[in-house]
Amino acid sequence: MTRKLRSVLTADFVATRVDACLARLAHLPDFSPAGQNHFGEAFRQSWIDYLNSFGLDFDTPAYFAGRRNFPAACAHAGIPLAVWHLQHSLMLQSIVECLATSEQSADDIRLLTVHAMKLGELDTYLATASHSEARIDALQKALAEAEEKVSRLHHKTSTDQLTGLTSFSSLMEQLEQQVRKAEERRQPLCVLMADLDYFKNVNDTYGHLVGDMVLRHTAKRIRAAVRDFDIAGRFGGEEFTVILKNTDISLAQVVAERIRDEIGSTPMHVKGANISITISLGGAMMRQGETKEALLGRADTALYEAKQAGRNRVIFAAT
Ligand code: GH3
Ligand code: MG
Ligand code: MG
Repeated sequence: MTRKLRSVLTADFVATRVDACLARLAHLPDFSPAGQNHFGEAFRQSWIDYLNSFGLDFDTPAYFAGRRNFPAACAHAGIPLAVWHLQHSLMLQSIVECLATSEQSADDIRLLTVHAMKLGELDTYLATASHSEARIDALQKALAEAEEKVSRLHHKTSTDQLTGLTSFSSLMEQLEQQVRKAEERRQPLCVLMADLDYFKNVNDTYGHLVGDMVLRHTAKRIRAAVRDFDIAGRFGGEEFTVILKNTDISLAQVVAERIRDEIGSTPMHVKGANISITISLGGAMMRQGETKEALLGRADTALYEAKQAGRNRVIFAAT
């Protein structure tokens, strides 16, 4: 049966049909520019191979698997499934027309026509399935890329570029969450506001770039002084904020003193210079029903008092 079918579906017939289809496709406006790259000789040849293997060993699993490859390649090349359907049904029509005018017996023509139509149905089914799978694959890939981009952007906006600490916007988001959690769970929550003492002198003496390095060293030392689960961020300029989850005032005082000691006890080595700098800290423990703004405000007032009292010290707001 297939052999007789092949006498109609000759290599010349196939090549002519494929070239005519490619010429028409090239004029379609909705082809993706990426797809254009696939319209080379390799694509033409796989289309020809696809049609040349029409019905060959159609009762083997390999035939089913092989029939899926070309439609998938079409999907990757940006050829819409509707266009594949159109060209496929045009090819079937041509086969049926050729059969009708062939020299086969009337019975053979009828059998061959039914056979060709069944093979065509099978192709349609397999093409629809593999085209959809290829589109899903492409969409999943695009989705994964978009997610990766979002996560990179999120990291960028949640991290302070100079110090690598939590950025101001992320600090505010996280403080909002922690205030809510502390309220719900009735757990203590403390915040620290810290400000380098006379930092302007560093810039004036050593220059802005050295000042930046001192800010980086400060960030490192703050991270070293706090616990892994504490949130340390850059509030802005030479000011830092630390959110101490599930921490009461006495423990927060210990952490604040550790930060002060870590910064002030040994000079920072920057570009051959030994720079001694100290830090002042103000702390506050969240009151029942307090907003993050009010909590930060009290920590900031305590920081101001630490500055007024002579700097390089920790003062906590009254509970
Ligand atoms: P105080 O003890 O009262 O806090 O004195 P101070 O000199 O630290 O405070 P002041 O507010 O007078 O100066 C802060 C300086 O921090 C001024 C500003 O140029 C500098 N600064 C802010 N952001 C940056 C930065 O990103 N890099 C550098 N190098 N300097 C910065
Ligand atoms: Mg300041
Ligand atoms: Mg300062």
